[in-house]
This record gives sequence, C-alpha cells and structure tokens, in this order.
Amino acid sequence: MQVVRYGILAILCVFFLGTILGGEGSVKSNPSKKIVPENYVDTLRSKIEVGLDKNSLILLIDSLLSNEYIDPDLVVLLNKKINEEYGADWPVDTNPYPAHNLYKSWNTLLPHPYKNDICKSDSEVTYCLTDHYMGCGYVHPFEGVVTSRFGWRDGKHHNGIDIDLIRGDTVVSAFRGVVRLAKWTGGYGRTIVIRHHNGLETIYAHLYKFLVKPGDFVDPGQPIARGGNSGASRGSHLHFETRFKGKAINPEALIDFKKFQLQSDSIVLRKTRSGFVAFQPGTLFHKIKGGDYLYKIANQYGVSVNDICKWNGIKRNTILIAGKELKVSR
Ligand SMILES: [Zn+2]
Repeated sequence: MQVVRYGILAILCVFFLGTILGGEGSVKSNPSKKIVPENYVDTLRSKIEVGLDKNSLILLIDSLLSNEYIDPDLVVLLNKKINEEYGADWPVDTNPYPAHNLYKSWNTLLPHPYKNDICKSDSEVTYCLTDHYMGCGYVHPFEGVVTSRFGWRDGKHHNGIDIDLIRGDTVVSAFRGVVRLAKWTGGYGRTIVIRHHNGLETIYAHLYKFLVKPGDFVDPGQPIARGGNSGASRGSHLHFETRFKGKAINPEALIDFKKFQLQSDSIVLRKTRSGFVAFQPGTLFHKIKGGDYLYKIANQYGVSVNDICKWNGIKRNTILIAGKELKVSR
C-alpha cells in the first residue's frame, strides 16, 4: 500500500515538474504569461529526490499559491490533479494557514498586503465568532478604558480602537488563530497580526515586547505581547483593529468594550463601496445625522437607494429628518 502511495506521489511530482517546466517553456512564446520562478522548479526537483509525503505536498502547493507570480492556470491544474488522485481521502482543512481559501496568501512582512480583487465577488455573509474554529470563544485583548474610537479623527480615519494601558501590561489574543506578522511596522510600531479561522484578522499595535512569532498558533486569551508606546503613539495604549480581507471594520460592531465581551455569537459582513460594514444579525438601522442624504447612507451600508426607499416606504425625494432612524437592511 505504502509503495503504491509513493508510486502515485512520484507520478504526481513528475506531473507537477512537467507542468511547471512546460509552463516555463510557454513563457518564451507568450511574454504576457506570468513566470514561475526558477527556485520553485528547484524545490520541486529536490523534493522529488527525497520523496514527498502528503503534508509536504500541501506545504509546497501553499508556497506556490502564496507566490503572486504563479500562473493561475497551473493552480487550477494542481487542484484538479489532487482531486483526481486523492478524492475523498484528501482532508478538507489541511491548510496550515487559517482561511486560506479566502486569502490565497500568507504575508509575514506586511500588515496590509491585500489587493481589492480578493473582495470583488463578496456581497453579504454571516460569520460565527464562537464556533470551535474560533476556539469556542473570545477573550478581550486588554481590559482597559477606551480612549479613542473607530472613525474619523482630526481629518484622518482611525482604523481601530485605542485602549489605555501601562507599558508592560499583558495583551492577549482575542480569538483562536495563527500569528501572521510580529514585527516593527512603521507608525504601528511593534505590531502583531493574527489571522483567524473565519477570515477575520486582528491587529495589535504600539506594543513593547513580543511573546509570539509568525506561525505560532494562539488560543483566545493567550498572552501575545506586552503593551507599550512604540511607533507613532502618544502615551502607552493598545491600538486594536479588526479587519476582513484587509478592510477595517468597526471593532465595536463585534465587541462590547465596556463589558469586554462579544456583542453576539455571529456577525453579518456586508460589502460596501469602500470595504465592509459589520452589524449584528437582524435588522439594521441608521440614525439620520445632519448632512445625510440617501445616496450617502446607501453607500455607507452597501445597499441601493431603491432598497432604502422600499424598506422604509419613502420616496427618493423624501426629506430626511435628523435623529430619525432608517432601516438599512431587509
Ligand atoms: Zn489607534
């Protein structure tokens, strides 16, 4: 049985090598085709010599997928071949990185490596925050007073929430996940980014000391750093962000920062023109402010003006009265 399995792997590896070399050959005839870097071919060749088990194969495929110069046709081909060869006995969630199907990349150097195209087919989806993939729960990163909230501040958008702390205080991971980045990053100072299994990423910035490194698996409540004042920060605090596919979402949509707990077990993420808006499952309302108009509100919540009119029984030219509420979901 073992021999047969290695036989299949050997055939598979030769197939991969052939495909990649073939892909390289076609580069010359078609200059617009993206190039598979030489080192991947070398990696494959050396792997074939020592023999390749299934886990190594997965890692190898991931390293191919995380390379942005990879020919997309090759990725399709690899996936197809794996399905054909392994079918049912290929485990569904073998990927070492959480939510790889959503991101297709794993960057340990940049906090914001994502391009807009990973969101392009998104519309609205409900995510569970407390299932076993998320470690069955949430632990508040640091139980302190909020000193600055998400939103516009001095003409700049504040993409997270600031929590007061004293240098050296312990900061913990909010959910289960894998550390994607732990390094000094510009204005963020010492920064940790954790990818969670539902695709959410949490960012912890202005840290003083790291207690984890990229690739570490963390559970909710696990200490990841000591808080501090590094980077562009005035006074020690934790700058905490929640992002989905690189787009900042208001942490207060998920988390109650006074009770240090989740608002609810799940969250709805709806694509808008500029990112995602997060809200509790159920009907969402918008409180009308001075200067609001229907088109602006529609954009903010990723819906159409027609939808808002329909849900509220109003017309496009209805005058909006500050303080009143509009339904902005079904
Ligand atoms: Zn901040």
